[in-house]
Amino acid sequence: MLANDVLTSADLAELRRSALGTADPLGVAADLAEAVDEGRLANPEDAGDALSLAAEIAEVRSRLGAALQYADRAVAAFPEEDTPGSGFARALRARILFRLGRDDEALEVVTALRPMLTEQADAAAYVSAALAAGRRDATAEEWLSEAVDGMLEARGEAPEEVGPPEAPGVLFFLLQQRHRVRRDLNLPHDRQDDLADRLETQLNRGAQQPPADEADLLFFPQAEFDQVRPDADWDAHRARLEKALVRLADGGATGLSVLRGTAAGLTANGDPSDAAVRARYARQLTDLPDTHIAWPPERNATCWCGSGLKYKKCCLPRSRS
Ligand SMILES: [Zn+2]
Ligand SMILES: [Zn+2]
Repeated sequence: MLANDVLTSADLAELRRSALGTADPLGVAADLAEAVDEGRLANPEDAGDALSLAAEIAEVRSRLGAALQYADRAVAAFPEEDTPGSGFARALRARILFRLGRDDEALEVVTALRPMLTEQADAAAYVSAALAAGRRDATAEEWLSEAVDGMLEARGEAPEEVGPPEAPGVLFFLLQQRHRVRRDLNLPHDRQDDLADRLETQLNRGAQQPPADEADLLFFPQAEFDQVRPDADWDAHRARLEKALVRLADGGATGLSVLRGTAAGLTANGDPSDAAVRARYARQLTDLPDTHIAWPPERNATCWCGSGLKYKKCCLPRSRS
């Protein structure tokens, strides 16, 4: 399915979402490694991520030997230990080593990652996952607690904020992960668990402030768009939608669709250039049948935008720029 195609970063992100749902996930893993070997990555710096993905797929399918080989190559593909993705690849390797019963090696790898806990937002999750694979949740709890204590001490007081909802800080992820691990260990809820709950509520509230999400997914086919915005560029319109959808999917949203609007429908609501008018129209469309276009299509299926081209040749690459 990927043979001879150049793989872009957007393709990789898309495969990360879809690979396990395909008929032959292990084939996808092999294709990924082959794309690296044959220099078919549009961005050669993606090699580590592509091999990590191959390792994850093989791990999920319990092909631990293959998973370890991919993970070894992924680790080697990252030039520096602090390159984004490198910590994840190392933790993945530790996880696979634990599953293979090679606990001493696994523990050595994951211990080397411990300093990342206070440096990388995703470290709390990948370090805990590795330790969990070795049934060492108690160690995870100890490491996370110490990292949280260190960060709180450095700040001198409980944090008022942990970053904007779309990018909460390292401390938030540490607290959240610690909270999960402690719950799994049946430990009593402590003050820092309270803090984790409070920050989580605060972030959810921030994230759910309706920044007119529905209006973000309002789509006009070309003929309609040219009537609504004769001065604007339909390609930019499609690119903005594709990017918004990728962002939502990366944030865990599923069952996504764009709302197909018409010029007449929009203008019936008022001035098309008014954001409030567009938001109101999008809400109307949400409740109507036949206005939802499911996203994403299969790579080789017709694009959601109605161009008649394959998705991979049309809007999929638009999320890149
Ligand atoms: Zn709680
Ligand atoms: Zn398209």
